[in-house]
Amino acid sequence: MVHDDGLAGEGDPRGAELATRRDKAVRAAVEQGLLGPDIALVALLDVAGIRESAAELRAAFEAVTPPGTPVLHAFAVKASPLVAVLRLLREEGIGAEVASPGELALARAAGVEPERTVLDSPAKTPDELRQALALGIAVNADNPQELARLDALMQSTDTRSPLGIRVNPQIGSGSIEALSTATATSKFGVALRDEGAREWVVRAYLDRPWLTRLHTHTGSQGIALSLMARGVAEAYALAEEVNRRAGRQQIDTVDIGGGLPVNFASDTTDPTYTQYARLLSEEVPGLFDGRYGLVTEFGRSLLAKHGTMVARVEYAKSAGGRPVAVTHAGVQVATRTVYAPGAWPLRVAAYDAKGRPKEGPAVVQDVAGPACFAGDLLARGQSLPLLEQGDHAAVLDTGAYYFAHHYAYNSLPRPGVYGFVPDGAGGVSFAVVRRAQTVEEIVAESGGEHPDALTSGFPS
Ligand SMILES: *Cc1c(COP(=O)(O)O)cnc(C)c1O
Repeated sequence: MVHDDGLAGEGDPRGAELATRRDKAVRAAVEQGLLGPDIALVALLDVAGIRESAAELRAAFEAVTPPGTPVLHAFAVKASPLVAVLRLLREEGIGAEVASPGELALARAAGVEPERTVLDSPAKTPDELRQALALGIAVNADNPQELARLDALMQSTDTRSPLGIRVNPQIGSGSIEALSTATATSKFGVALRDEGAREWVVRAYLDRPWLTRLHTHTGSQGIALSLMARGVAEAYALAEEVNRRAGRQQIDTVDIGGGLPVNFASDTTDPTYTQYARLLSEEVPGLFDGRYGLVTEFGRSLLAKHGTMVARVEYAKSAGGRPVAVTHAGVQVATRTVYAPGAWPLRVAAYDAKGRPKEGPAVVQDVAGPACFAGDLLARGQSLPLLEQGDHAAVLDTGAYYFAHHYAYNSLPRPGVYGFVPDGAGGVSFAVVRRAQTVEEIVAESGGEHPDALTSGFPS
């Protein structure tokens, strides 16, 4: 059953299917005891939805590149650092973009091959660089100092790693400053419009025949497609300039980054990979004529719509005339929304105690989390059927950068994460992706083995 309160994607059959699968999964999670008296919060991942998005991404770029063009879609691991998710994407032909030793370890644990892995980060240590080159992982140097480290390593290493430089085309900001990476003063990449920078980049390539890639990432949520396309166009123009001056196709691959925005307002996927790939092929046709290989680094857009958090409503109260549902999903799993609600609104859907979509007139209410500060609200003044004690609040579109990004406020535990698929008999099957954190684990990671550190732990 699909909600009739505007939550389903109107006119978008795929959005309606997504909502139907979600409704069934919430019901089944309650019936199968994934939620219960002792388990107040759970996170669900729609495996069919993730596979669909991955297939769409591949098809979108296949449609605009000549057959045989090498295209690597490297999932930005930071969007969903869960090993089973990386393994699922790998099975769908998607690699990994990593930005820390931890993310690299996750990608390797998932079996992502070095040739399908890309290392980008603004603060790579010499050890990280050495390991990446030893493994044959692609590396994009962020700045001249990092390139100098690569120079030193290249003297002593025989590597298969494709190497490139990250540039910042400095074309401006989207609607969320914190996620805009192509501003004049962004911390990422070589700022291309600064005095002398462009010539420095070109020379860097001409002096190093082993630099064969060029990387740019214009930003994430809040960046207009047209601005993203301009960023890619700038990178393409620079690649053409380098290759012209080199007198050969020295740069053979352009890494266009990720950042396709996600629609958090309904179940409709908008924009789509198809729209973006088409726009790029129209705006930057030379990049798609077969002379260049491509790398993409999408994160949020692959996972966001396929994740749902389901939290029990512990108490339903009223304050100043406003109904407030106190749930178990708050700042610990929706940090961005709680601290920056204007930039990161989330939809909440109401389900009853049995996990069935709640009926009834829409009531303006707040949905609060369990943390001890007043701002711990998932939704302020949202209209939905009145949440009552024992009901469930589902927080939608949380598959990327939400429940996988735990914030340890109030020592609240990480919720269990389950993937779901149809069981073939009209029901739903679940598999554990990450089990819930225990209280013992919280004590251990809070220094439980050093209780006397501050009272008698110093050398006397
Ligand atoms: C975060 C990031 C991405 C992914 O961004 P999304 O908005 O999640 O698609 C890709 N590339 C780089 C370099 C990033 O930092």
